[in-house]
Amino acid sequence: MFEPVLLKNVDVPDGHLLATYEAGGGYKALAKALREHTPDEIIDLVKKSNLRGRGGAGFPTGMKWSFVPKRAGKPKYLCCNADEGEPGTFKDRIIMERDPHQLIEGMAISAYAIGAETAYVYIRGEYTLAISRLEQAIAEAHAKGYLGTRILGSDFNFVVHIHCGAGAYICGEETAMLDSLEGKRAQPRLKPPFPAVEGLYASPTVINNVETLACVPHIVVRGADWFRGIGPDKSPGPKLYCLSGQVRKPGLYELPMGIPLRELVEDCAGGPLPGRKLKAVIPGGVSAPLIPERGLDVGMDFDSLAAAGSMLGSAGVIVIDDSTCIVKVATRIIEFFHHESCGKCTPCREGLNWVVKVLRRVEAGQGAPGDMEQLEALCKGIFGNTFCALGDGAAMGLRAALAHFEDEFVTHIEERRCPFH
Ligand code: SF4
Repeated sequence: MFEPVLLKNVDVPDGHLLATYEAGGGYKALAKALREHTPDEIIDLVKKSNLRGRGGAGFPTGMKWSFVPKRAGKPKYLCCNADEGEPGTFKDRIIMERDPHQLIEGMAISAYAIGAETAYVYIRGEYTLAISRLEQAIAEAHAKGYLGTRILGSDFNFVVHIHCGAGAYICGEETAMLDSLEGKRAQPRLKPPFPAVEGLYASPTVINNVETLACVPHIVVRGADWFRGIGPDKSPGPKLYCLSGQVRKPGLYELPMGIPLRELVEDCAGGPLPGRKLKAVIPGGVSAPLIPERGLDVGMDFDSLAAAGSMLGSAGVIVIDDSTCIVKVATRIIEFFHHESCGKCTPCREGLNWVVKVLRRVEAGQGAPGDMEQLEALCKGIFGNTFCALGDGAAMGLRAALAHFEDEFVTHIEERRCPFH
């Protein structure tokens, strides 16, 4: 039986309050980090743990921290990516609403490691409860000396500011987020320079996701070996999985990284709705290519899902049963990406516009011979040719739908109707 780590406080009454967090051992990790470790030792500890970013890319967190120059001659910043705009994803919201001090403690330790004295939480504007809980938690932490100057009697000073997004998906892309924080229109930046060298206000900046930062206090208290002992060695740790869609017990589950997708959907989440059969699962938010039912015996970790042609992404697991039209699913997803495209590069801006037009006519039973080839050609023009991962994600998702459910697209075109209605 796996003991929750990240979610251990979420069902505790008043789990969002400092007193409750302290009663469960909260802020002991920060005290330990400041008393017993140098910043470099914390970076080494996180490197040894093999913690990989939980926002989607899976980049090794300790390595990312080590890219920050030691003597930059400029302020350094920590940015917490709490934009959580990926459809099917709601894990960071739960941490911020129910256990915000876990995040603040993780941010304080991470800032100490990289030498930052200022942090920003870039939070999705619709998360009103999470915003107020974080504001309350930051005020409590200041009053108790966990934030502010000379924290816990050390030389470490650290403050956290909250910045609310305004509903643009692209702000979840880390460099677009930095532009938005600077008051500009959010569009991805050219890399290099990478944010660790030249990020917010052209200063060294580390950007980490909420769940990633929430793992840090546990690694400090329990050690790197404990963390590495959970799940696959190259992709270890406790992991939050967001289960939604046509499944009996949707919700947020904490389980080891690497749990088989079938076990997650059929055993933990109860399987498909009564009388229905599993058809496909999107394992990592709508940017991740869907996996047909026959492929569900794959581990939910970065490497296993990549080898299976999909990705862990944000671990937003969307379950699709046999009552659902895949053409409709693909159309809604591409409509979303088209709407959220920032417009900076032509293959994404124009390509997705054409993909939406073709998909809408196929879905409506007005497709024409050659539409499948047209969709493939459009995907080819988008994939690998866009400025950021939004275009790639859209093209990969559509390609997977075309490859695994070609018959449904062909039926729509040949019978000039949707067979599901
Ligand atoms: Fe903008 Fe799309 Fe290009 Fe990304 S791929 S920069 S979202 S236009």
